[in-house]
Amino acid sequence: MNGTINVAIDGPSGAGKSTVARLAAGKLGYVYVDTGAMYRALALACIRKGLDPEDETGIVKICQESDVTISYKGGEQVVLLDGENVNSLIRSEEVSRMTSPVSAYPQVREKLLKLQRNLAAEHNVIMDGRDIGTNVLPKASPKIYLTASVKTRAARRYSEQQERGLDCTPEEIEKDIEERDYRDMHRECAPLTIAEGAVLLDTSDMNIDEAVNEVIKIIDRCKA
Ligand code: C5P
Repeated sequence: MNGTINVAIDGPSGAGKSTVARLAAGKLGYVYVDTGAMYRALALACIRKGLDPEDETGIVKICQESDVTISYKGGEQVVLLDGENVNSLIRSEEVSRMTSPVSAYPQVREKLLKLQRNLAAEHNVIMDGRDIGTNVLPKASPKIYLTASVKTRAARRYSEQQERGLDCTPEEIEKDIEERDYRDMHRECAPLTIAEGAVLLDTSDMNIDEAVNEVIKIIDRCKA
């Protein structure tokens, strides 16, 4: 496709993709691209307009009018929504809940696809999301499908939210994760599936360092 190295990491919510991909990218000197954050920024724009998740016309209009760009500050990805840094606003449960329906609309995905492919054409990237290996970067090498049990994922998400001081219960998080997984896996446009040739990595019994090491090993094997 081009001369850059493109690594795709897909998987369900809370599998640790973002943390693992960010750390592995840092170690390898690649750019980490968190595509979920881009969808979250558009969901935030829709929440701010008071839109209903079912209102496809309204959502598509707001998403088309909103400008999402990515910049990097001290190695961290900064998501700008119409020029505003929204990093600290896009991790709430409210935004998580809105992102799943918003990201299911084909015209919303179309908009972000271009931005994602442009980043991969310009930089060596580790890009994480739901459809990176299947749709955004079908020639990525390696493709990794990172997963963990629902219980493990819910427990991780719960402690993250506690650290952020956000109010929620473990039961709410688990229910939410199951609903989002179902929606992401069953939508018509670019559903979450295991890409052909993807390496499966179950992190249920791994800590972060172990998962990062495994990812780096998979990437190294591909280069060899
Ligand atoms: O990865 P993260 O949990 O931040 O993603 C939030 C939501 O964005 C997912 O539940 C999914 O609905 C959507 N998403 C997507 N395609 C991607 C990345 C995220 O549909 N490539």
